[in-house]
Parts: sequence; C-alpha cells; structure tokens
Amino acid sequence: MYRLVSRENRSASVVAFGSAQFGGREFVMIAGPCAIESREQIERTALHVARCGASVVRGGAYKPRTSPYSFQGLGDVAVDLIARASIHSGLPSVVEALAESDLAVLAPRVDAIQIGARNMQNFALLRAAAKAGKPILLKRGPAATLDELLYAAEYLLLEGNHDVVLCERGVRGFDPQTRNLFDLAGALRLKELTHLPVIVDPSHATGRRSLVAPLVVAAAAAGLDGAMVEVHPDPSVARSDAEQALTFEDFEELMRRLSGGPAKVVMAAGR
Ligand code: PEP
Ligand code: MN
Repeated sequence: MYRLVSRENRSASVVAFGSAQFGGREFVMIAGPCAIESREQIERTALHVARCGASVVRGGAYKPRTSPYSFQGLGDVAVDLIARASIHSGLPSVVEALAESDLAVLAPRVDAIQIGARNMQNFALLRAAAKAGKPILLKRGPAATLDELLYAAEYLLLEGNHDVVLCERGVRGFDPQTRNLFDLAGALRLKELTHLPVIVDPSHATGRRSLVAPLVVAAAAAGLDGAMVEVHPDPSVARSDAEQALTFEDFEELMRRLSGGPAKVVMAAGR
C-alpha cells in the first residue's frame, strides 16, 4: 500500500509553493506560458496573471516535446527569466525538471519543481527531485492509473519530501477531438485516496483553448484544490501548445467567472 500518501487516518495536507497554499480553502490558480520564450513574454505574462488573481506563475524551460525537431525550450537561461518575472510579479514560480541535471539549476531559483507526465515513473528523477529541497508538482502520466500516480508520489514522501501536489492532466483517449481525456472523476477519486492536494490541467487535457475555462470552473465547483492553465500574450506566435493557450483577455474572463461562481472558494485575491 501507499502508506505515506494515503488519506487513511490523515487530515488533508496544505502544501505551500512560496506564498501559495494548496489544499486549504482557496482554489489556487497556476498560470503562464507553455514555454518561456523571451524576457518580455514571461514578464508580461507573469504581471498579467498576477493582476488577475493567479497565485503561481508557470513556464517551461526544458520542454518534453514529442518530436526532437520541435522547440525544446530555452534551457537554463529561461530559469533566470522566470525567476526575475517571479520577483517582479510577486508570484512564486513552478518549472518542470526534465532530467536530474536540471535540478541544480532549478532548486535555488524557483519555488516548486514540476515532474511532468512523461516522467511520472522516472523513479531516479523522483528520488532526486524529492531531495532538491523544494515542493513538487507531480503530473499524472498519460496512461497512468491513479494507483501508479499515488505510488509515484509515495517515492517523494519516502525521501522525506511531504510538499507534494498532484495534477490530473488528461489520459490517453481514443478520440482526437480532445488531445487527451480529462479525468475529472479520477481527480475527485484521488481526493478520496490521498491527503495530498489535487489540481487539474485542462490545457494539456484538452488541447483546446475553448474548453479550458469551463473545465477550470467545473474543477473548482467540484471542490478540487486548483488548476494550472497555459496563457500567452499572443497565442498565434507561441512556440509550443499554441492551440490551447489562453489569451490575456481569456484569462481575465476566467478569473472573473471563478470569483463570481459556485467555486470551491474565492481566488487568491490580494496576495
Ligand atoms: C507542462 O505542463 O508543461 C507539460 C509538458 O505538461 P505534461 O507533462 O502534463 O504533458
Ligand atoms: Mn504545454
């Protein structure tokens, strides 16, 4: 059994990425571009999402792309760019580590380390990331069962890192109309099985801008702990995941809907 992540005999955990608290009363929003593309792009995005009420800024530096010919991210330099944007916007940051060698660059510069879907069962990376001294955002593999996700999280806690947030980001489905199959029921089932906070990523789950906001609202109404969404100043020129990126206006509208709706609660306004 997954002893350390199990809900049994435990109350819900609150996990902090800097000033952002997951698992408490608030529905926490992580927002930012798929990939960090330039100083201006990440700065403008961080400032905009902060103004709208997001609690964490995201951005990829080392991108796990299906094709080796696609944009792979700016690498180490991008970590410095998001670190500056984080200071300027006041938002804590989360960046994915693609390999163990990324951890030394990330740990001193970001507030949380993401382990992406493709690496969910990279056990050596999990153990090393757990020891980097930062909270972890662990994404569900595209074909991972909930038990497999929970065992992956167990690796992190077993290494002494209890600051773990789980993220449902869609699983491989059969219908190309959505990029993946958004498993809202699975995310809710996770909440029954573990004390760890659970958030959703409807951007990667659907691959479609139009579906992102309604699914965030659904996740909030269902009582989940937050969401991560991709936002770009100009999606038409985004170097990765352009079709699923929200515009600044889309994001502002989403945040307005959330604060007025039957959300788990109020957004992290005024942080
Ligand atoms: C991401 O969040 O940047 C990402 C690559 O997502 P996933 O690992 O879920 O595909
Ligand atoms: Mn992406």
